Amino acid sequence: MTYKMVVLMGGQGVGKGTHARRLISQNGYKYVEAGAILRSLPSESPVAQIMARGELVPDEELFKIIGAAIQKVGNVDMIVDGFPRTIGQAQWLVKQYATRYDVRIIYLNVPEKIMLERIENRIREGGGRADDADAAVVRRRLDNFFKTTMPAIEWLKTAQGITFSDVDVSAFDFETNYAKVCDALKKAKVR
Ligand code: AMP
Repeated sequence: MTYKMVVLMGGQGVGKGTHARRLISQNGYKYVEAGAILRSLPSESPVAQIMARGELVPDEELFKIIGAAIQKVGNVDMIVDGFPRTIGQAQWLVKQYATRYDVRIIYLNVPEKIMLERIENRIREGGGRADDADAAVVRRRLDNFFKTTMPAIEWLKTAQGITFSDVDVSAFDFETNYAKVCDALKKAKVR
């Protein structure tokens, strides 16, 4: 049996975490969340300092950390959230896992304007994270998404051995967006 590796991609405020939590509660997927794993590292570590500036942690660090996390969850259906974020990471993921799992890339697609509105709401509502509090850091993370992660998404669209879905999740209502994600996951494995 081939287990599913559902990879949630998209900019900030698109609802990766919310979709992940609903998918987990409904399907019992295991959760590999890059940001949370990185945030659990000691605050004096170089990685924590890179994150505080809103910059991307080097690929080699991610390969070690994500590789170990995926190995730890093992042969089960899982959600990977926050990885890959660069072309190098995307290529590594396909090379390592496309033959071992049914890799489903779900690109949560939202226009930049809506992404910004959602982040602003998150900050206003007070539930925001430490690295959401500084507008310059938020801006840098958004720039990283367009400059570095979008090319990775473009590359994945035509990559062999995986299934790619571009899902428009710009509706105000979460349930509408979630239903589209579920439909994308029902698609037959295409490659
Ligand atoms: P997130 O919670 O996914 O927004 O991640 C928080 C921070 O962790 C990001 O702003 C980056 O500094 C770092 N980070 C998370 N995932 C990655 C990744 N795949 N590659 C590089 N840096 C990452």
